[in-house]
Amino acid sequence: MIHPSTVLKFIDEHKGYGVFATEFIPKGTITYVKDPLEIEINEAHFESLPGYMQEHVEKYSYIDENGTRIISWDFAKYVNHCCNCNTMSTGYGFEIAIRDIFPGEEITDEYGLFNLTEEMGLYCDKPDCRKILKPEDFDAYGHLWDEKVKPALQLLPSTAQPLWSFIDRRVQQDVELLEQQPESYRSVLMLKYEPQKVKVLTA
Ligand SMILES: [Zn+2]
Repeated sequence: MIHPSTVLKFIDEHKGYGVFATEFIPKGTITYVKDPLEIEINEAHFESLPGYMQEHVEKYSYIDENGTRIISWDFAKYVNHCCNCNTMSTGYGFEIAIRDIFPGEEITDEYGLFNLTEEMGLYCDKPDCRKILKPEDFDAYGHLWDEKVKPALQLLPSTAQPLWSFIDRRVQQDVELLEQQPESYRSVLMLKYEPQKVKVLTA
């Protein structure tokens, strides 16, 4: 489920649709949670689909920490990648605003955190664009991504959280623990290497 203060807009023929903020969304706000209505497609199901449906699944899904393809029932699936993104996945299973997002600004993500299985061309116009997303990006940039995610998580308790009730109780407790025990921080690398520790609300 995407943050409620967002809207889906058509950008252009090249980029297609994107998700935009309708209100100020401060750094530290949870912007996406995998909720019980998301469509989960395992590998066997994916392989059984006709080619044209696999293309759609690949375009609109992300691959979670368990290797399952997730397609959001709402317009969270239209959030675009940007090499200078304003939201990122966390080792807690949800996504967070890593800087302040202003009304009218596009909500963007780091697709490198989505357990990519193959390379993906990029069309973003940022000067520091990586041009191609690679599965190895996770290892190359994971620690840099942690440097953006960790300070955002520390702001979480003092920030309004419309999606808080969709977070699993155990994950809520772990997030709350961060304030007293900063060393308990869960690296984004857990999404790849310790998936069993990334608990999100799935049932
Ligand atoms: Zn880029």
